Amino acid sequence: MKTLLIIDVQNDFMPSGSLPVAHGDQIVPVINSIQNKFDLVLATQDWHPKDHISFASNHNGKSNFDVIELHGQPQTLWPDHCVQGTEGAAFHPDLNTEKFEAIFRKGTVITIDSYSAFFDNGHLKSTGLAGYLKEKGTTELFLCGLAADICVYFSIIDAYNEGFNCTFIEDASKALDNEAFEKLKNHMTKKGIKIMTSESL
Ligand SMILES: [Zn+2]
Repeated sequence: MKTLLIIDVQNDFMPSGSLPVAHGDQIVPVINSIQNKFDLVLATQDWHPKDHISFASNHNGKSNFDVIELHGQPQTLWPDHCVQGTEGAAFHPDLNTEKFEAIFRKGTVITIDSYSAFFDNGHLKSTGLAGYLKEKGTTELFLCGLAADICVYFSIIDAYNEGFNCTFIEDASKALDNEAFEKLKNHMTKKGIKIMTSESL
């Protein structure tokens, strides 16, 4: 059973959004073109309350991209993004969402941030996604979306740790920091996570 998990293809992560990923919009037609190859298609949305702890604007004297300590872990402070119910939190308007059987939302609790689709950054709270996938009979999990070096990466590592056979679809994803992502790709392949392009699916 092949499942596609599409991470955070939302307006705020597009080139015109508040936390832009360069060329993020280019992955939308690629993702649309591959959805029919899967038995199950799921998506995530970063979905924050407006006073979310990951926003620099909610910390006096802090700037965007400063790093603080939160629950014993480094936490990057981001520009306000993906606020619940706003246009910025909506999927890219050209993304085909008809096949999405479920949408998992993360980052919904004010005090904790969630890069991964499975757990928050401190692994304090599960989204229930691993149990959902297991009950659906998912054996092979393919991941793509935004940003490749952050939410896709942390999702794929958690998926691997949950026992799924994982593949990263490279041309259906874009990274915020391409240099950092090259190192993360090495880390993924060393674990046995596959990296493919949409054409070889
Ligand atoms: Zn976020």
